[in-house]
Order: sequence, then C-alpha cells, then structure tokens
Amino acid sequence: MPSRGQEITNQFIEGARSSSTAPWKVAVKPFRVAPKVYFVGNSYVSAYLVDTSEGLILIDTVMFGSVYMTLESIRLLGFDPLNLKHIMLSHCHPDHDGGAEAIRQYTGAEIWLSAIDAEFKTFTDKVQRETPSMNPSYEPTRFYDDTKLMEFGDVAIQTYLTPAHTPGNTSFLIASPDEQGKTLTAAMHGGPGPISVNEEYMAKHNLTMDDLRKQFMEDGYEKLKPLHVDIELPSHPPLGNMLDRVPADRMDYSPHVDPEAWVRFLDARIPRIYNYDPNWRQNS
Ligand SMILES: [Zn+2]
Repeated sequence: MPSRGQEITNQFIEGARSSSTAPWKVAVKPFRVAPKVYFVGNSYVSAYLVDTSEGLILIDTVMFGSVYMTLESIRLLGFDPLNLKHIMLSHCHPDHDGGAEAIRQYTGAEIWLSAIDAEFKTFTDKVQRETPSMNPSYEPTRFYDDTKLMEFGDVAIQTYLTPAHTPGNTSFLIASPDEQGKTLTAAMHGGPGPISVNEEYMAKHNLTMDDLRKQFMEDGYEKLKPLHVDIELPSHPPLGNMLDRVPADRMDYSPHVDPEAWVRFLDARIPRIYNYDPNWRQNS
C-alpha cells in the first residue's frame, strides 16, 4: 500500500498532467465554502471566488489549460466573470497563476502578486513559460502590503507573506458576513508544499534552504497559527478532504466550518515542510 504522502504525490503528478492536457478529468462543479467564498477550482488545484459588495475577486486561477472551467464555474454560480475586479495570486507557479493573463485580458481585472514573487518570477519564467501557449506570462499590476487590511465593501482580506515554497508566497485571511451578519473567517495557506526556490535566486539573495525552512516554521507557528479561522481553504484539494464534505446542496457551506481545522492543517504541514528533503523528487 502506498503511504499517504506517496498517494498525495501521485495525485499531484496526475492532477498537474490532466489539468493542462485533459482538464475534464479534474472537473469539479463549483460550491460555496464560506458566506461569500466559492470554490471554482478543480480536483487538482483550488481557485476561490470572493463575492464582495465591490465586485468579484478570484484567488488563484488554476492552470491555463483548465481556466475555461473556472470561468464556467463562475457562471454556473450565477456570477458574471466580467465583474471580476481583482485576481489575487498566492505565488508564481503555473498551476496557480497560469490563467492570470487570459482572465485579465477577458475581464480587465487587476493582477495582484507579492513584489518578491514578481522578482522571483523573472527567474522561473524562463523554465515554466518556455511553452507560452501552455503558461502565458503576465505582469502583476498590484502588490500586496501586509501592513494594511484590504476592505472591499462587506469583505475584508488580510495577506501574509509566508515564504519557502516560493520566496514571495502569500497566504490569505478572508472575513465575510453570513446571513445573520456574523463574520466568518476563511484562510488559505498559499504555499504549504515543498521549497521550490532555485539556487540562482538563493545565491543572489544570500538565502539558504535552511533559512527558508526556518522561516516557514516561524511564519506558520507565529503568524498563521494564532489566527482564528472558521474555514480552512486548501490551495490544492488533495491536501485535505474538502471535496468529500460537499453536501447535496452545494450552497450549504456549513460542513466546511470547522474552527479546529486550520490548526490541525498547520500542525501537520509545518513539520513536514521543515523536515522536507530537497531530493524528494529523486527519492519518491
Ligand atoms: Zn506552487
């Protein structure tokens, strides 16, 4: 029997392949996860639509090959993708940002990224976007400022720089009111996966793998764990069991409310990344 870790790795490899070449294999009908937050991603990678009184926000875009399904999911929920005002990216990897340019061209939405990943992107674009039709490049038009709470009418979003997976990886805390006016918080860790910062970038910035591992642990325990989070939003569905909890009424988000889930998730992921073996690809 493969281990849970091996199972997740296999799901990731298969999901990444399908996401770009056979997107129908990873299709998931959209559903609501929090009062104003909807899942519009696929079974491999998440994208979340945030419905604010000042327009729609998309957190991550999925891969370019499957982006048409994200737009379709937005329509199925009864929203018009042309009302998208902001595309907020967790980091500069094609499974999360591959659709950014296509969606920006279509909707005119602003593209947000951390300034650090905007620089890191210049290192990775050479490799990740060598086939432009697979992963069109884009220019971010806005940069996160973690010192400011962003308010979009009835929804507030706080960003947190949480590097290691990429140097400018960003996590999100989204606060939105339910029908009774009670605020529920939902959070997504932007990069709970293996460290993927290349040597060229680390050399330029005098960074070591150890620095990144330690930073990940510090941010995880000190910045993220103290947050009160009612709903944990996985950046990739295989990292949790969100899809198994979707009820028959896909607008009912109550099965996703679990104020312990965020801490459980961090407690499981932080040591895993801290003890991460950079040769995992060769060894797995
Ligand atoms: Zn990534």
